[in-house]
Formats: sequence, structure tokens, C-alpha cells
Amino acid sequence: MSLLGFLRTAAAGTLLISIIPPQASAQRPDIATTYRAAADSLIRAATGDSAAYHRVATLVDRFGHRLSGSASLEAAIDWILREMKADGLQNVRGEPVQVTHWERGAESAELVKPRRYRLHLLGLGGSVGTPRGGITAPVLVVASFEELEQRKKEARGRIVLFDAPFTDYGETRRYRSDGPSAAARAGAVACLIRSVASFSIQSPHTGRTIYDSTVARIPAAALSVEDAMMLHRMQDRGDPVVVTMRMGARQLPDARSRNVVAELVGREKPDEVVVLGGHIDSWDVGQGAMDDAGGSVAAWEAVRLMHRLGLRPRRTVRVVLWTNEENGLDGGNAYRDAHAAELDRHVLAMESDGGAFLPRGYLFVGSDSATAIVRQVAALLQPINAAGVQRVEESPEADIGPLVERGVPGVGLDVDGTRYFWYHHSDGDTLDKLDPAEVARCVAVMAVMAYVVADLPEALPR
Ligand SMILES: [Zn+2]
Repeated sequence: MSLLGFLRTAAAGTLLISIIPPQASAQRPDIATTYRAAADSLIRAATGDSAAYHRVATLVDRFGHRLSGSASLEAAIDWILREMKADGLQNVRGEPVQVTHWERGAESAELVKPRRYRLHLLGLGGSVGTPRGGITAPVLVVASFEELEQRKKEARGRIVLFDAPFTDYGETRRYRSDGPSAAARAGAVACLIRSVASFSIQSPHTGRTIYDSTVARIPAAALSVEDAMMLHRMQDRGDPVVVTMRMGARQLPDARSRNVVAELVGREKPDEVVVLGGHIDSWDVGQGAMDDAGGSVAAWEAVRLMHRLGLRPRRTVRVVLWTNEENGLDGGNAYRDAHAAELDRHVLAMESDGGAFLPRGYLFVGSDSATAIVRQVAALLQPINAAGVQRVEESPEADIGPLVERGVPGVGLDVDGTRYFWYHHSDGDTLDKLDPAEVARCVAVMAVMAYVVADLPEALPR
């Protein structure tokens, strides 16, 4: 997940704009009165059972993780399309997307000096592999880009390990995305990073690395937090640290995938659209249950409940499960391109990709007048304490980013992300990390916002 929402949450707190022209709200219909009954029925239906959680369970247990280019991703998409049709949703389809296809292959790492020990390693997405015999080299441990700059003469011919403590995701993940090319620029033969994780029980965490095209592509992998810290201590003690890395990673030709799309066609303005979704792909470890089967199914369930309750809004509600968020954003970009002609009639785009944990409300990017209306809609979630609206400056989630860039107002879910980076992009991202009641609340939060915005007499202003 991109987690733009998380990394801005702290800063956004100081950017809240609460100045609403009084006449703006006076002229609007009374959202609290008009939509109370519909909102309550959606909240009741969403929180009355664990249907969404059980559907996440079936998805992740039956198909496992869902990396772009994998057979399991496409099998999962086939199943979802069948289920959505059985649910009675309309215009159910897979929209074609060319996606990047990277495979991890076999990989391992061993500490050679000062003692033999099998390290906990996980290659970074997009990394090149090592030669067949692996790479054996002395290690230079640095705590930051700045320290590498100061010690770059020592980096030549070595494996550079960035042992950067987790601060927040946006800051720390720079070592994952930019670290390998920074190490290559200093002459390193391979790059290791301390996993981008806020808690660890020897769990390495993957994620996408991005090579700078002007320097050599060197193999790149994450170590568990524990192993990275140990190597750092060994270096500080003056012990020589030598590691062998073996990685079979390779880039294959692009593969065919699909964005999953299904609708409830609007009863009065079918050409105007509210989009809500998550991303159906995942990394190739764990089950991708938090990231992002939970968000995907929550959006799907929100639309299924509207249909089941006979709530058909004025405008079309469209659930989109984007493909290839994790290693390319090809799905989000393909959706923008395939729907370019109707983007000016996209009233709102909403995504849940921060984990379907206890929701506090929404993250919103849009105009002052749109914010005023979104706050009134969010107030309908007071019965489950999820009425908050934090205004953010950029798209709160990755797949809706291409739409927000074209002027579509964007919504993310503001959830309790305390445990998210314990498991994110690791073997620990499995179903048990989600809670049925919290997933159900995420369904309610998505359903009420999507339904009311799709039904308002006037389109949400830009
Ligand atoms: Zn995600």
C-alpha cells in the first residue's frame, strides 16, 4: 500500500480548514434529516453480521497472495467476477490492464563472518537477482543516506546495509525505494535495508524498490530488524562483517491482468459516478489480507448492501478493485485512461488501503465547499464514532491518485493503523490480523459516504 494517508495524518492535523461560508450550508438540503434513515439502515446491515470478513477469509484462504502476473491473482479475479454477478451487481466486468511481472525466485543470505548464521532476508520488489553463485562481500552498515555520503569511499565493492530505524512510513520507506541506487552510486555491489516495520519478530518486509536509470542495478533485499541491528552492532564492535546473498529474482515480460468493475446504475443520473474500491493485487508473501483484501471486500460489500437494501442512488455507484497497486500502479493509471472521457462526471473517488481496521472517519482532498458537504455526510457515522474528516493536500490513497490529479475529489479511510506496519508486506499479513467487527465498520463508513454523495440532488462541487 502506498499509505499516503498515514504519512500525512500527523501533518494534516494542523492543516484543518474549518471556515465554511454560512450560506453554503444553509442552501444545501439538510443531509442529516434527508439521509438519516438510509445511513442507519446501511450501518445496521454492515454491522449486523460478519459477511465481509468471511468473504475476505474465503478470498485469501482459497487464492493466497496475489502478485501482479501471478496465476493466483487472475484466479482470484475470476472468482470475484462470478461472485459479484451472483450478488446481482450490474455491468460486472474485468477491464484489461498490462501489468509488470516480477518474480522473486529462490533467495537466501548467510552471515559468513564473524560467524556463520542464516539471515532473515526478503528481496525487494523489482530487484535484479544475483549471479548464480551469489554475491559474497564485506558489509558497510550506515544509519542514513547522510552517513553513506560521509563514508562513501568505504562503500566501493561492499554490500551497503541501511540500518535506519522506523520513524514513519513515508520517511523510512525512502531507504527501500531509493537506497539501492544510492548504494550503487557509491560503488556498492548489493544493498540491504532494515525492514520498514514498526515491530518485528524476525520478519523481513518487502516492498517496491525503484532503480535510478543512471546507475547500475544492484540486488536489493530487506533483512529483519533484528538481523540488521545485529550486523550494525558487530561493525561498531570492530568485527569484520561478511555476507553472502543469493537471489533468483527476475523481470518477465508484462502480463495481462484486469481491474474488477461492478456497478449499481444510478436511477436519475447514470452517467455521473461515485467510485469506491481497494486494490486486489498484493505482495507475494503472507495473504495480502490487510493489504488490501480487506479494503477491496469492504468496498464490494458496501455496494452489495445498497443493492440488497434496495437503496439505488441518483448516480451510479461503481466498485473498482484495482490491479497492480503494489509494484507499478498500472491498474490505477489504466482506469484513468480507460475512463478519461467521463472523469469530469466522476463525483467522488474513495479507496480503503490502510487496513480495514477500526475507522475514525475519513481523509478528504477537495475544495472548501466539497469539504463542508463531506463533513455533513460524515456526521451520519456518529453512531459508530466514525464521523471525523481530516482534510489532506494530496490523494490519501494511491489508486485514486490519478483521478485526484484530474480534479476528482478523493476520500480515504482514517483507521487505527497502530498495528499496520507490524505485518505490512510480510508473511504476517494474514486474515487473523483483521477483526470482523472492525471490517464491518469499514463497510459502513464506505457505504454511507458513497451512497449519500451519489444521491445528493446536486453533484459534490469540485
Ligand atoms: Zn495496499
